[in-house]
Amino acid sequence: MSTEFRALRVPVENLQKKVYSRERVSLDLSLGVGEGGIFESRGCGDVHLDFVLESNPDGIRVTGSIGGWVSMECTRCLESYHRELDLRVDEFYRRPGLEVVDELEKRLPQGMEVPEEDAYVIQDNMVDLFVLVNDAIMLSLPIKRLCSEECRGLCPVCGENLNRGECGCIREAVDPRWEALRALLEAEGEGGA
Ligand SMILES: [Zn+2]
Ligand SMILES: [Zn+2]
Repeated sequence: MSTEFRALRVPVENLQKKVYSRERVSLDLSLGVGEGGIFESRGCGDVHLDFVLESNPDGIRVTGSIGGWVSMECTRCLESYHRELDLRVDEFYRRPGLEVVDELEKRLPQGMEVPEEDAYVIQDNMVDLFVLVNDAIMLSLPIKRLCSEECRGLCPVCGENLNRGECGCIREAVDPRWEALRALLEAEGEGGA
């Protein structure tokens, strides 16, 4: 794990000792987005995290914001581009061993859902905000990440980026039967991504 991502693991032992105490966590990260999630990018990403951690008898509630810019790759022309983020987060990290979900549901602030995944569990007296940041960012993005709706993609013959101009290749009109197959493959790709 990178140095920056290590900073996302926040010790909460002291917070837990004093119920309803708060701690603010502010961080700047350079983030890129790829197929597998967020990764640390060099310089071009500029994301600001501002969270408040609050302890309660069952765990730690994390509220706050994720703002700034992430870099990502266009799924059509493969060029990298930037996208602005302006997200609110409100998640709950439950303390380990707290299996009585019904009880937890009653005690959580209204409107908050009990997290199902074990990712949101306090481990070794740490809250790993990487999971939260990754989930929040990935869920906010469309599956098909395009530099622009009008992106013309790459020439299937020579691979030239057609947004930069015509390459001069003769691209045959596509047989409609192949077109149907292509649409099918694309739909499959979308479902799996
Ligand atoms: Zn593009
Ligand atoms: Zn070409």
